[in-house]
Amino acid sequence: MLKNVKVSSEVFRKYSIILLAVIILSSLLLYNVTCNGGNDFVIPDQLKSIKSAYKKYIKEVIFNKAASQIKVIMRDGRDILWDDGKSDKSFNELLNMPDLEDQLSMAYPRGRNYPYPKVNHDPGRIRVQNFFKSVYGIDRESVNKNLTEVIWLPKHSGKRLLFNYQNEAADALQKVSDELDRLPEELLKYVKDIAGTFKWRKIKGTDRLSAHSFGIAIDINIKYSHYWRWNIKKESTLPYHNKIPLKIVEIFEKHGFIWGGKWYHYDTMHFEFRPEFFHSPHSMKK
Ligand SMILES: [Zn+2]
Repeated sequence: MLKNVKVSSEVFRKYSIILLAVIILSSLLLYNVTCNGGNDFVIPDQLKSIKSAYKKYIKEVIFNKAASQIKVIMRDGRDILWDDGKSDKSFNELLNMPDLEDQLSMAYPRGRNYPYPKVNHDPGRIRVQNFFKSVYGIDRESVNKNLTEVIWLPKHSGKRLLFNYQNEAADALQKVSDELDRLPEELLKYVKDIAGTFKWRKIKGTDRLSAHSFGIAIDINIKYSHYWRWNIKKESTLPYHNKIPLKIVEIFEKHGFIWGGKWYHYDTMHFEFRPEFFHSPHSMKK
């Protein structure tokens, strides 16, 4: 029977192409689930965002099959647990003892049409301290060495701000500054007199290091800002306030900064370089 089947060169070519496509696709699939050591695991989407936003600082992602744990190995040798297995953390536990998965567990709503922040929805306030230490400096001294000057609003201010140059954070702030510098006068008043960038300090009322400690955050004009602690009477009835124009927010977001004005515990002067929230697939673009 087979003898009678004539396979034309055209059909042969067609099947070769299909076969090749199948081989390529299965190799890609295999690569995705067996990164490092041949252990079967799939890198979660949020971890992919972190890998892509901090490429230079992450050496590899490994899977410990016996413990069923994913670990992120940083370039400085530190290893950071992706998921500690605790899925029922309270809000305070999320802030005080997060794993890397918790850090990206709340989606940041990029753009002008952000929803009114729901209770305790503070995307970006959850930070794994050791991760930031690995990227930006382990203590005050090492962060200091990583600081460089950003010329703030070259045409309208010229003030020199200290910002961390690791992960191109200072470059990103310079780009923000150059764009803000072209804004009309009525918008410049919000950003001309800024409240500060680098300061090694703990977050008010907590034991956690502020993003300002790593030189990756900037507070704009305090005069037009709102901070939840200034308004609070009872946390259960936290009223939302904001006066910062969204045009300013858009410029910061374009260069990888999140805004504290999109947090339930709002801090509308605060912008923080957190590129992981803008790296697909996690970013929520509107
Ligand atoms: Zn701040």
